[in-house]
Amino acid sequence: MDRETAFAALKTLYKDLECDIVTLGLDCAGCGRCCHFEEFDHILFTTRLEYEYLLSVEKKMTPDSPDRCPYQVNEKCLAREGRPLGCRLFFCQAEKKSEELSEQYHRKLRELHELHGIEWVYRPLLEWLERG
Ligand code: SF4
Ligand code: SF4
Repeated sequence: MDRETAFAALKTLYKDLECDIVTLGLDCAGCGRCCHFEEFDHILFTTRLEYEYLLSVEKKMTPDSPDRCPYQVNEKCLAREGRPLGCRLFFCQAEKKSEELSEQYHRKLRELHELHGIEWVYRPLLEWLERG
């Protein structure tokens, strides 16, 4: 199967997640603090398919610090469409509540890689952006 088909399936997964987030009443104030990884003691991991999808819809950014996601500018995310599952599933006010959802969607993401014959490589976004 080609990448476009896999990207379409990934977009559907993201849409389904949005619906589940609304149903569960999970909320994020959008302050952007968690995009400062060191300050927040948080590492954003992502997979090959997600990384390729991100680059298919957003410009490639080069990290300039291990602390900050390069897609954050003026405390706003410039990669809303392509941001990985890890960003979509993080709710600092409801980490326990979102834990089950996170497991469920990472399982779905792994299945999606298998279905499309894409190797499961799961590593920090900054590493993907530095090394490709
Ligand atoms: S999850 Fe929390 S820290 Fe991150 S943007 Fe939302 S409110 Fe801010
Ligand atoms: S992609 Fe967007 S939401 Fe995710 S860490 Fe970067 S700036 Fe934050």
